[in-house]
Amino acid sequence: MTSIRRLPEYLINQIAAGEVIERPASAIKELVENSLDAGASEIIITIRDGGKSLIDVQDNGRGMGLADMRLAVERHATSKLAEDDLNSIRYLGFRGEALASIASVGRLRLDSRQQGSEEAWSLTVEGGEASSPKPSPRVCGTRVELRDLFYAVPARLKFLRSDRAESMAVVEVVERLAMAAPHCSFELWEEGKRRRHYSAIANSFAHDKGQPADSQLARLRQVMGPEFSENAVKIALEREGVQVSGYAGLPTFHRASASHQFLYVNQRAVKDRQLSGAVRAAYQDYLARDRHPMLALFITLPSSDVDVNVHPAKAEVRFRDSGMIRGLMISALRLALDQGSHHAANHNAQAALQAFQTQPGVLATGSSPVKLGVRLGGQNYQNYQSGYTRNPAPHLQERARQFQMPAPLGGASGDWSPSAPTGYAQDQAGGGGAITLDQPNFPPSDEDRLMMEAETHFPLGAARAQLHQTYIVTQTAEGIAIVDQHAAHERLVYEKLKRSWQNEGIKSQPLLIPEIIELADGAVQDLLNHSEELAKLGLEIEGFGQGAVIVRQTPLVLAGVDLSRLLRDLSDEIKELGGPLSLQERILAVAASMACHGSVRAGRRLNHSEMNELLREMEATPHSGQCNHGRPTYISLKLSDIERLFGRS
Ligand code: ADP
Ligand code: MG
Repeated sequence: MTSIRRLPEYLINQIAAGEVIERPASAIKELVENSLDAGASEIIITIRDGGKSLIDVQDNGRGMGLADMRLAVERHATSKLAEDDLNSIRYLGFRGEALASIASVGRLRLDSRQQGSEEAWSLTVEGGEASSPKPSPRVCGTRVELRDLFYAVPARLKFLRSDRAESMAVVEVVERLAMAAPHCSFELWEEGKRRRHYSAIANSFAHDKGQPADSQLARLRQVMGPEFSENAVKIALEREGVQVSGYAGLPTFHRASASHQFLYVNQRAVKDRQLSGAVRAAYQDYLARDRHPMLALFITLPSSDVDVNVHPAKAEVRFRDSGMIRGLMISALRLALDQGSHHAANHNAQAALQAFQTQPGVLATGSSPVKLGVRLGGQNYQNYQSGYTRNPAPHLQERARQFQMPAPLGGASGDWSPSAPTGYAQDQAGGGGAITLDQPNFPPSDEDRLMMEAETHFPLGAARAQLHQTYIVTQTAEGIAIVDQHAAHERLVYEKLKRSWQNEGIKSQPLLIPEIIELADGAVQDLLNHSEELAKLGLEIEGFGQGAVIVRQTPLVLAGVDLSRLLRDLSDEIKELGGPLSLQERILAVAASMACHGSVRAGRRLNHSEMNELLREMEATPHSGQCNHGRPTYISLKLSDIERLFGRS
């Protein structure tokens, strides 16, 4: 070893670049953040070979004068810490090292025209050496061109993935940044093709299906797709100066990975395990463990309450009061999901509609129309269709009128027969035997009136039929709904169990012989710090000297579990996620399977009043729009949707 020496500037920059610029996508993140910090409303990004040979970012921001351009490519030179105070960070940048780092590992060209200035300048940096500035043709804002990323550090080049993988990472970064800046338009070009284009959203133009919507939702719709915006609930909660806003997908609209969860702190995209843990906690009741919601959440808080200077790429943050943020996020999500819980994801209804529509052959091939449940005596389908849509024959009109009439009710047994055109024999659900209905029921009976009332007053309407002993078909004010009776009942039993736990506490059972579990010191501390919370869930522990706890009581439903494994898992979670999530999750999982066993199985015949009881209970129960595994318990089709299926609109 030789004696200590100070490293040359270019080497210092390369070392810094190692942390900040990992791949093309990270260079683009820094450059686009600079454009946003410069107040741009238009950003155009171009890449070639996944960003390896060219990255070009142009903006219409406030630009830089010549002196600033020279400084900008030096390390630790920034315009964003006016008060020299790391506690009041108001920009995405503040470390003053991105441009210097980028310039140390690639060939950089910087063109800029300062707002209000007559002249624009161009500067290049290669191998750590800045050229002398030349006049530039740039008309406004700044353009940064980076060629041959990592040519100066070939070791890095080897770590890059395929062009495709790198360009996918670039797309992801652009999407993430665009979501937090709806006022700005973004274009991403690759090999002459425009891969992404998000037009700027002015507040007054933010419309969603003719309804005024906020610009945030409009941008999320551009990035995550219309399906997301139609299946998401608005999040908005504020506590002690901290706001949580954004949109969260309904539990019935889930994905296989958490990569569609976008979290922002003061407009900065972050990846934070604690925050992701809070999302998981909020959804744990509604989603299977391996399914994940889609969402975009924005946390806004005073900059003195959060430290963003934790990580060179600024992707992690530390909160002064992380417990409070976690609690706030969970409450905000739960509150919104409670309100949105009665919408089975519209997404599923859409999928169902498409399934119908992609089978035009079913009817047109001459098979009888009975598949849609409409039997029109010897009419062949072609005749039926033309007659019906253009010039309905009188006898068909009469049939249609009868068809639309309220379903007649069965006798005193309460059994009920599905709605049917007169003159057709129907197998009566539950009652056995066939009946023939010859007369439409006029005037309507009391029960008919009740049913009509149910249609207009209750969201799930009135039960009309049970199909395949699994599905309840109902008529609602706006169309029809199809309820999966097993899934719905499972949810109801589960919610009931949960409520009784909330009211009466979770039943626990003392261990005859308390068990001593040895654990790492830190784990013991973490568990003891949460002992009250654990006790509420029925798990009672106490410290037992160094490195051990003694378990006195366990939740009844978890009797017989491997306690040392349970405690180890719980302490890991406390460390990672800030709370013992899985205990509750496990208890709930048991509840869910209990609910499953106690449910009305598919295949049971339900009579009319049983069906309606189930519907009314669903309406009164939170989260009844999905079963415990995130599947919808019902789908609804509007009349207009049905009309579309028949080509009537
Ligand atoms: P930081 O963003 O942390 O300040 P950078 O190295 O990314 O550090 O940028 C250094 C400085 O260069 C910024 O503080 C800003 O003043 C200026 N700058 C960089 N990019 C732009 C841009 N697109 N438009 C205007 N000024 C810019
Ligand atoms: Mg920067």
